Amino acid sequence: MKKAYIETYGCQMNVSDSELMHGILAENGYSAAEAPEDADVILVNTCAIREHAEQRVIGRVGQLQQYRRPGVVIGVTGCMAQRLGPDLLNRAGGVDLVMGPDAYRTLPEALSAITGKAPQPPRETGRLPIPGATGAGMTGGGGLAVLNFDPFENYEGIAPRRTSAVSAWVPVQRGCNYRCTYCIVPYVRGDEKNRRPEEILAEVASLVEAGVPEIVLLGQTVNSWEHEDWNFPRLLREVARTAGVRRVRFTSPHPNDFTRELVEVMASEPTVCKQLHLPVQSGHDRTLKRMLRRYSTEQYLEKISWVREAIPDIVLSTDVIVAFPGETDAEYEATLDLMRAVRFDDAYLYRYSPREGTPATRLPEDQRIPDAVAQERLERLIDLHRVIQMEINTAEVGRVEEVLVEKEAKRGGLQGKTEGNKVVVFDGDPGLIGRFVNVRLTSTSGSTFAGELTDEEPLQRVA
Ligand code: SF4
Repeated sequence: MKKAYIETYGCQMNVSDSELMHGILAENGYSAAEAPEDADVILVNTCAIREHAEQRVIGRVGQLQQYRRPGVVIGVTGCMAQRLGPDLLNRAGGVDLVMGPDAYRTLPEALSAITGKAPQPPRETGRLPIPGATGAGMTGGGGLAVLNFDPFENYEGIAPRRTSAVSAWVPVQRGCNYRCTYCIVPYVRGDEKNRRPEEILAEVASLVEAGVPEIVLLGQTVNSWEHEDWNFPRLLREVARTAGVRRVRFTSPHPNDFTRELVEVMASEPTVCKQLHLPVQSGHDRTLKRMLRRYSTEQYLEKISWVREAIPDIVLSTDVIVAFPGETDAEYEATLDLMRAVRFDDAYLYRYSPREGTPATRLPEDQRIPDAVAQERLERLIDLHRVIQMEINTAEVGRVEEVLVEKEAKRGGLQGKTEGNKVVVFDGDPGLIGRFVNVRLTSTSGSTFAGELTDEEPLQRVA
């Protein structure tokens, strides 16, 4: 049996896509390799959001060349593959396959084309014949680039090969209809494509029946999901009411599509985790406008107030980009003010990274923020966030939380997550993995907790 190894970079959508590719390959006779040296197919599933991430991938593909032997295929998939296209075939010591996110259904045929082997027994492979279809092509050296956009491809009917029996990503949507001026995603993943509710609910039901306790609905702007007369709150409610489901999360919502109806579902459905990741990106209206985020700080803060009114102990997190071109000191300070006002439990904080082809790169050169200033802005923001996070989490020490045990911790013991998505490490039997246990939080590093198993019940959340 042939073996495939997939290394994943970037966001949860890529983690989910790697599970999808493993599923497609499994249907075609491949098993999963634990390490690249054991694999006949080595794929690096990539992210294009930041230049730094792309450079890391180029370096990693270079390292993977040591596993090349006759018949081994090395490929790059995902957003970076879509962005750089056939140019990648000649980078990092040579790549055999470059494949964008809409073409995974054709992975087995592409591998057969590269190795010169007859394709596996026929199966429905969708709408992307290779080569010769738009966007597909062979280049020198026998490498193959498959870069078609397919406005209908949402991978219905494919069973992913799940890597976790505890928490399952369920993609409900691919692509994005927003056009934030800094973001490459719509150019590499195309427009929004929503899955049918029947299919999503059937997948959730089968996961729960298989014993998976946590479901995470996934989409680039997950709450803009809609299908005929269904909207996202209705979908979330139906998922939350699936018999046997214990925890439901969703990520990442866009503030514009965040409605009172969604808050009402979050507050009233006991299985929906009282946790929300709502990317804000900036705390100043002029910057938000130039980012084309399509909301004001006032509107964002109003939505935070809705959710806090309905769920007072909601756990909040966000994304922020500093040093967007033209961001003034005052605009940056406004972002710090917003962080102080909201007091997020967690935050993913970045410096602006120019992405070729995005509108923000066409802003006048003199608006670029010098590296030293950008770095200083990022560091101050991180420092502020860490102080706030430490204050919030220190106040939670002593609390008893219901924790879903996910895995053995790297430094010994078990690791799990609270309903609020906070990481806790504690001693316990590995047989508890996949179970819910009560854990008293005994200390915090700031971002994570140490704890101990207890018979005491968690305090009921106020909703
Ligand atoms: S909403 Fe904006 S930031 Fe998010 S994926 Fe779409 S374009 Fe990118």
